[in-house]
Order: sequence, then structure tokens, then C-alpha cells
Amino acid sequence: MKLPLIYYGHSLLRKKAQPVVEITKEIKKLIQDMLETMQGLDGLGIAAPQVGKSLAIFITAAPVEDGKGGFTQASPRVFINPKLSNPTEQGWEHSEACKSIPKLSGDVTRPVQITVTAQDINGKEFTEVFTGWPARVIMHENDHLNGVLFIDRIPQDQRKKMENALRKIKKQYNP
Ligand SMILES: [Zn+2]
Repeated sequence: MKLPLIYYGHSLLRKKAQPVVEITKEIKKLIQDMLETMQGLDGLGIAAPQVGKSLAIFITAAPVEDGKGGFTQASPRVFINPKLSNPTEQGWEHSEACKSIPKLSGDVTRPVQITVTAQDINGKEFTEVFTGWPARVIMHENDHLNGVLFIDRIPQDQRKKMENALRKIKKQYNP
């Protein structure tokens, strides 16, 4: 079942998400619904706060380099109670957008590589190193769990130019 998204201006997008204590049937259903929502929106990732649930869960489906200069779509990955560590000092800048902030994008610099420890949908803990786009999507989604949005990470001049559009989104999507 596709879930409605919440948008910029909604206070839940600025809240720190709560840890998942137990992966219940309801949590599994939520994850399935988040997956369908993400795929329906053609997104690279989705975090639980974006569907109005303040829980430490996100899903990614980041493109992966195919080794021939192109990209292939990765199968979705579920991260429950994720902890990020060991970001590389080396960063790279790329344009980012967010389904909760329609039609806007801005340049975000993020570490090239990050280590993630999280639980999968069966509660099994894993630790894995991610590089490039998968790492970027993970960091974007993990930001959502901390109430942080990509617009907090873009250059000041870009943010300034966005203020009007942001005000409009706030009004239009939060009646
Ligand atoms: Zn987002």
C-alpha cells in the first residue's frame, strides 16, 4: 500500500526518529509500504519520517556503477536502527533532491565512503562499507532520521535563492 508523504514544513521532518525496539508485523508492513511508496515515486530512497512515522528506518535503491561507465539499479536495501561511522575525509559534490521538498535541488558535498551498522528486516545486524552513490543515498536518508534535510547542507547562496519556493511548499503542502 502506498503511503502519503509529508512535506517540508511538517514538524515531523525536523524530529529525531525513535529506535525500533522490535521488528513486529506492523514494522514489516510499514517497510513493505515504504518500499511501494518509494518505487511509486521513482525514488532512490525513503525514510520512515517521510511517511509520517518517526522511526529509525530507511530504504535505499541507489544506482550502482556497472563497471562499464554506466549504472544499474540496485535491489532495495532496508536499514533499521542504522549507525554511520568512518566517513572518508574526501568528499564529492553532487546535486540532490528530496521527494519531501518537491521540485528543488541543490549541491551537497558528502564523504565518498561511509560504514553502516544496521539491522535488516529480520533483525540481523550487519556492518558494510558503502561508496559513491549508495553512500550518498544512505547519508541523505540517515539525515532524515536526525531531522536534517539536504537544504541544510547546500551552499548559502543556493539556499537563499530557494527561500521563496520553500515558503510556498510550506504553505501549499501543510494546510
Ligand atoms: Zn529526502
